[in-house]
Amino acid sequence: MALVAEINRSKCRKCRRCAGICRNGTIERAGASLRVISELCSGCGACVDMCPWKGVKLVSRQE
Ligand code: SF4
Ligand code: SF4
Repeated sequence: MALVAEINRSKCRKCRRCAGICRNGTIERAGASLRVISELCSGCGACVDMCPWKGVKLVSRQE
């Protein structure tokens, strides 16, 4: 099943570590928050491993 990263806004502290590790440039700034450009996400999980606060997780891609 295809996975895609999803930001949990209540847990995210906006440190941008996840954006820095993503090789696809998938996580971008969106106003005061961050957003995932789902079309660019490979579901690799590198961003999940990078976040100390569990602010991003992989979820099933909605087709
Ligand atoms: S690494 Fe975690 S806390 Fe930092 S911006 Fe990404 S989701 Fe938010
Ligand atoms: S799962 Fe991989 S491709 Fe998707 S946002 Fe995280 S680091 Fe980038």
